[in-house]
Amino acid sequence: MDNVADDFYRELPKVELHAHLNGSVSFQTMEKVMKRKPHLNIEHHMTAIGKGQRRSLDECFQVFKVIHQLVDTQEDILMVATDVIKEFAADGVKYLELRSTPREETKTGLNKKNYVETVIGAIQQCKEEGVDIDVRFLVAIDRRNGSEVAMETVKLAEDFMLSADGLVVGLDLSGDPTVGHGKDLLPALQRAKNGGLKLSLHLSEVASQLEESELLLGLPPDRIGHGTFLHPDVGGSQSLVDKVTKNNIPIELCLTSNIKGQTVPCYSQHHFKYWYQLGHPSVICTDDKGVFSTDLSQEYQLAAATFGLDQQAVWALSKQAIDCIFAPEALKQQLRQKWTELQPRVLK
Ligand code: 5GP
Repeated sequence: MDNVADDFYRELPKVELHAHLNGSVSFQTMEKVMKRKPHLNIEHHMTAIGKGQRRSLDECFQVFKVIHQLVDTQEDILMVATDVIKEFAADGVKYLELRSTPREETKTGLNKKNYVETVIGAIQQCKEEGVDIDVRFLVAIDRRNGSEVAMETVKLAEDFMLSADGLVVGLDLSGDPTVGHGKDLLPALQRAKNGGLKLSLHLSEVASQLEESELLLGLPPDRIGHGTFLHPDVGGSQSLVDKVTKNNIPIELCLTSNIKGQTVPCYSQHHFKYWYQLGHPSVICTDDKGVFSTDLSQEYQLAAATFGLDQQAVWALSKQAIDCIFAPEALKQQLRQKWTELQPRVLK
């Protein structure tokens, strides 16, 4: 990790809604996985982007391929998932929605079903150990894999939604945004929505995807990942913005990820400003805390420093994120209660 955030931001209770499992693996955990597989000759600079470094979006997706080579057994998944959950908890995250793309690795016996079972096992293990965090899981569709795999993933997610004690709450659409077209995935996404899975979709992450974004916003999704190019100042359109605001669809905003992946030129031009000034539900998230060498406390601090938010505003921002979680109302109430209890200690 590049920096450590100030005490206020670390003590601030936080909600993390956009965290890809394999992108969230810390330096320390990566070290353990690398030791298990020295023959792969993978070094840290191949799995994380350090301070001041930038990569193209395409290079970022190459990084995920390297991580997938390393994390390819059930044992690995269990270790990275428990470590990631504990690290978020240590950073003051009280509620986490983790997302991951189920994978198959014939040589290690990993398949999509036992992949999801293992992540769920990690969540349950952390709960049994008393880690102070509530975790839910979103099953991810990698758009690169096309419509058939998307439909299979939805069916898998439906099965686990019914069988995993409420831990599987939704579906994520992610993967290289320059590959494939959202229209091919609409039937799968529509089925998921009809079946009660909540939808968080990466939308307009790169420029010139107006048509796809219009189509996907028609579902409508329950949350939007990034939404970098939705608004008219950056080549989006008022009609897209109107769809988002009319349906009050929260946006997950990942500052460092967008700067390091070069979809946004600098922090001050991040679209957080646009949505926050509109008063639209805007949730600060990490995206891939391992790959982008950050944590959620630092992301809050960066947003505050860049956009001039005082502690009251930062508190309101973290509390508002509770409204945007996919878990049921009863858990929202518990989290609000937790924020109320912590307020006198944190907001001095
Ligand atoms: P995993 O699903 O293997 O746990 O996490 C890594 C995967 O998440 C990547 O292969 C990619 O599909 C997705 N991902 C991670 N970060 C991003 C991002 O910033 N944008 C998009 N579109 N996908 C991402």
